[in-house]
Amino acid sequence: MGVSFDKIDGAMLLEFEKQPATNPTPEKERAAKLVDPGFGRIFTDHMAVVRYSQAKGWHGARVESRANFALDPATAVLHYAQEIFEGLKAYKRDDGGVNLFRPDANARRFRNSAERMAMAPLPEPVFIEAVEQLVRIDRDWIPGGEGSLYLRPFMIANEVFLGVKPSSEYIFAVIASPVGSYFKGGPAPVSIWVSENYTRAAIGGTGAVKCGGNYAASLRAQAEAIDHGCDQVVFLDAVERRYIEELGGMNVFFAFDDGSLLTPPLGTILPGITRDSIIALAKESGTRVREELYTIDQWRADAASGKLKEAFACGTAAVISPIGKVCSASGDFLINGGAAGPVAMGLRKKLVDIQYGRAADTHKWIRKV
Ligand code: PMP
Repeated sequence: MGVSFDKIDGAMLLEFEKQPATNPTPEKERAAKLVDPGFGRIFTDHMAVVRYSQAKGWHGARVESRANFALDPATAVLHYAQEIFEGLKAYKRDDGGVNLFRPDANARRFRNSAERMAMAPLPEPVFIEAVEQLVRIDRDWIPGGEGSLYLRPFMIANEVFLGVKPSSEYIFAVIASPVGSYFKGGPAPVSIWVSENYTRAAIGGTGAVKCGGNYAASLRAQAEAIDHGCDQVVFLDAVERRYIEELGGMNVFFAFDDGSLLTPPLGTILPGITRDSIIALAKESGTRVREELYTIDQWRADAASGKLKEAFACGTAAVISPIGKVCSASGDFLINGGAAGPVAMGLRKKLVDIQYGRAADTHKWIRKV
């Protein structure tokens, strides 16, 4: 393909130049924005940016005032969607310090995404450093209580060229958005729509990486879910159209009457960091965790027989969301009477307590900033 990324290793020594905003949000205004920030509409004052070109490798690392990008209309990302992203959070501890949860895992997944999309793989230490630099400069934007600062690292193909080929230039950036507690008054069970018209990923495709195109392709299915009065869509496999894969933006778990947990195996799904953490927490408390295929028909049958006790979705944004109701063209069924159950709630508390520094970090998942 003619693209070489041989300047990567030198980038591990990148120094971030700091150019703090000359006109940051006044304290009072910021405090008002943090009262009820919602999700993804309020942003901090800064961003971290690193550039890549074939000639220079990774260079120009900066933490600077959050500003527009100027893109030529022929910039590759605008045409062929060579774009990847990540999502992770910074949490304020009771002692005032700040915790990042498994940023090394996000850095690794980002690198895998870059490789799949034929983009310049960002060295993992640069990813982590960029995230930490932004958290440090914008730490006053981290809401207290059950809120957090959502961090959005992303990379776009920046070459001005209309040929279909891997770009020779990239922009990596991190922006941050304060978010409130996802569920006021505790996690509310969600209803999900089984997508029989659309699939998300096929073997050999991009389902296991976090590229923007996956999300663009999921929107029609998500709209169909909303049309049917559901909160989220769940996708089936693209070959047999019967195995449960994942939701539009969350992985899924099933809890059975024999105490075991089941979650679909990796392959065409996104390898969620919350999924991985839940597997570890469940196993260490003696729970048998099966990473196995599970069909929609079996799900329906197990819900009817009572063999299935709970189902829940998991991801960085909402941690764990109990699934109360499953709807499809062939009918609806409830799980656990439509209510949140003890398995989901117990795992949720364990995870959240580690994230906020209220429980011992025995897995070394926390990086203090
Ligand atoms: N699946 C998809 C498709 C997602 O977008 C996400 C959110 N990143 C997840 C699963 C959950 O991943 P994580 O636990 O790393 O947030």
